[in-house]
Amino acid sequence: MDFDPPETVRPLLDRIARFVAEVVMPAEEEVMQRGWNAGGPLLEELRGRCRHAGLWGPQIPTELGGLGLGLVEHGLVSEQLGRSPLGHYVFGCQAPDAGNLEILHRYGTPEQKARWLVPLARGELRSCFSMTEPENPGSNPTMLSCRAVKDGDHYVIDGHKWFTSSAEGAAFAIVMAVTDPDASPHTRASMIIVPTDTPGFERVRNIKIMGDPGEGWASHAEIWYRNVRVPVTNLLGGEGAGFLIAQERLGPGRIHHCMRWIGICERVFDTMCRHVARRKIDGDKPLASRQIAQAWIAESRAEIDASRLMVLNAAWTIEHKGFAAAREQVSLIKFYVANVMQQVIDRAIQLHGALGISSDTVLAHYYVHERGARIYDGPDEVHKMVVAKRILARYS
Ligand SMILES: Cc1cc2nc3c(=O)[nH]c(=O)nc-3n(C[C@H](O)[C@H](O)[C@H](O)COP(=O)(O)OP(=O)(O)OC[C@H]3O[C@@H](n4cnc5c(N)ncnc54)[C@H](O)[C@@H]3O)c2cc1C
Repeated sequence: MDFDPPETVRPLLDRIARFVAEVVMPAEEEVMQRGWNAGGPLLEELRGRCRHAGLWGPQIPTELGGLGLGLVEHGLVSEQLGRSPLGHYVFGCQAPDAGNLEILHRYGTPEQKARWLVPLARGELRSCFSMTEPENPGSNPTMLSCRAVKDGDHYVIDGHKWFTSSAEGAAFAIVMAVTDPDASPHTRASMIIVPTDTPGFERVRNIKIMGDPGEGWASHAEIWYRNVRVPVTNLLGGEGAGFLIAQERLGPGRIHHCMRWIGICERVFDTMCRHVARRKIDGDKPLASRQIAQAWIAESRAEIDASRLMVLNAAWTIEHKGFAAAREQVSLIKFYVANVMQQVIDRAIQLHGALGISSDTVLAHYYVHERGARIYDGPDEVHKMVVAKRILARYS
């Protein structure tokens, strides 16, 4: 296996890396300080420049105006974009829209595609994905309470959701609701498109993340669905297909997340190396002269490189052998890379001293907002269980 970027994407990766460094990163401070809503016009300007440069929507199919990259190629792009907290948003491949776009493209009816997919792909509207419920374990989504009951040619949805990322300002939600409580656990639920201006859709609040209230795309909402009526034509895929679609959404999504986390690791690693090389701690001697700094740099380098090879290997397996063949690898990378990222950020903060927990560098942002990586899309423990069970089955 050759994990060098294919010749076809190498020039593109170079251009993207330059665009991130020269256009996106300089805008970070303004957006992060003013917030995502006040920073909206600047973000739109950056998106315009990205489109103009022919870089919009790396993973979006070409017929929808994107670059139509495959999983490995987009993984490599995702790494470059992860180097800035604004990267994925500016390039139109941010979660949860990227996942929603993928399932609308695959399962949407022509009418659903015209109404939701096309403007989503153009970046003209945003969306959210509403599955997790405060009263039930998100790690076991067969235990959902939210119900969608058929009433003539409508579904009536009642339920309580939270951690619906990016709901503030979203035009529609894809809601996971139980349509047949008597069906087998994995065929009980369906995905239904709910425009957020439907009566009964109530965004209660944005949930604070370690003190940060969040806003706009960078927020996580608690939502009540009370007697929400939507036409049955808003059903996505078949009735009872919710879990099947969710699995398909999560497979490539985990590759994208892991590569984004590797991009974060690289940015943090770079920040850490620059700091220890510059910071004098004993007369003329820099922090880099201390063994602990050297050890953390060497360990971080090894772990980031290992992560990249593991993720590319998983992406390659999905592309060449299908998702089923990569199930174990996908669980491995999900918990391994999330922990590497957390460890690398923590080391960098420690070596920066007080500066590390200030908002004068990007480190504190990543520390707060990437801690969730070990929880969403399956907590560490569940992925470890999946991996161990599959391995041990080969010994029984
Ligand atoms: C930043 C962020 C963004 C999110 N965005 C979305 C979104 O857009 N849409 C959405 O629907 N949801 C979203 N979520 C929710 C996410 O999917 C859930 O948090 C996740 O599925 C875990 O569910 P839970 O929080 O209910 O934890 P629980 O299921 O209650 O689990 C709690 C803890 O118990 C342990 N645990 C659970 N199961 C097992 C097991 N089988 N064996 C051993 N230990 C176990 C783990 O340590 C786990 O962290 C988001 C979460 C975060 C943090």
